[in-house]
Amino acid sequence: MKITDVDAIWLRVPALDQPCAWGEDALIVRVHTDTGLVGVGETDTAPSVAKALIEAPMSHSTCQGLRQILLGENPLEIDRLWKKMFRQSEYVGRRGAGIHAISALDIALWDIAGQHYGVPVHTLLGGKHRDRVRAYGTFSARPTEDANREVVARLLAQGLRSVKLGGGSFGHDPAHDRKVLRAVRAEIGDGIGLAIDLLGRWRNPAHALAQCEALREFDLAWVEEPLPSDDARGLAHLARHAGVPISGGEGLATRHEFRSFLADTGPAIVQPDITRCGGISEMRHIYELAREHGAEMVPHGFSTGILLAATMHFLAACQFGELIEYSQSDSPLFRKLVKNLLPLEDGHVRVPDAPGLGVVLDEAVIDRYRVRA
Ligand SMILES: [Mg+2]
Repeated sequence: MKITDVDAIWLRVPALDQPCAWGEDALIVRVHTDTGLVGVGETDTAPSVAKALIEAPMSHSTCQGLRQILLGENPLEIDRLWKKMFRQSEYVGRRGAGIHAISALDIALWDIAGQHYGVPVHTLLGGKHRDRVRAYGTFSARPTEDANREVVARLLAQGLRSVKLGGGSFGHDPAHDRKVLRAVRAEIGDGIGLAIDLLGRWRNPAHALAQCEALREFDLAWVEEPLPSDDARGLAHLARHAGVPISGGEGLATRHEFRSFLADTGPAIVQPDITRCGGISEMRHIYELAREHGAEMVPHGFSTGILLAATMHFLAACQFGELIEYSQSDSPLFRKLVKNLLPLEDGHVRVPDAPGLGVVLDEAVIDRYRVRA
């Protein structure tokens, strides 16, 4: 089998001069083969940048476009191709957007392999440990207590038993944050997991530590990105003294960044995004690193149903992969792009059992939202 083409498809709901909310743009890929099998992947990054990295013509030996690196190759040789892509895009890649683009292609290669062998990706990864994974819902904090109560009631009505809030107005004003959390905790009661995401907004380690103390009454499941992920000393101080699990890592890529992050900051939970960190292949290394450092892995995921399916296959094959983020976006790119989007059932997502990733894309959605720039 040979790779005959790589299609990088930029999808976007608002017009180009309008801002996107979470989930309103995406870069998906289709890797075509001479057998007719087509693999699907995606990366949650700046779509135009990832597209350029895939489509770039060859410059020199370590500055090559990823499409050209893959053409003519056997898609089943995933590990060799990952290393080839990494090495031959090294000057523009290695971390960040270069790895984001590789992530999309890696996911598509696993999809092809599963279809070729007639098994779900989680079987290729060593076998599933569970039939369903508990989900948590993320919502962006609303300005008023009533609005927060309303949105969290909607999440519980879907069967979710675990929620996370962050973004919006949250994280700037301690008094406001306490008010929001009091309203949310009162609405959900004691039996529901509640986490918060600071997006690195707390101003320094002392401030962050004081906030963790002040918010102790809300029994938080974790505090996500209380400080920027490059503040290793600050995060390490918090991890030791905050008295609440500290999490982070959604913006990190490759085992190399996660190795440093784990060793230097000692988080309780790492949150790689499978469409950014290097794909399914690199997630396996990151999972093992997390285990070695005694950290849980709860992947980040807030884009299309392709990301959701890839994360589900991966978590199913992890011995301890028991919690998945389930997007609360109303964007058609989440709700409609994948025709057989994995639904929430009683607060859980069922592990898919079709060959490959098992996703079926809606061509009409692609046609409608494709950016033809
Ligand atoms: Mg986050």
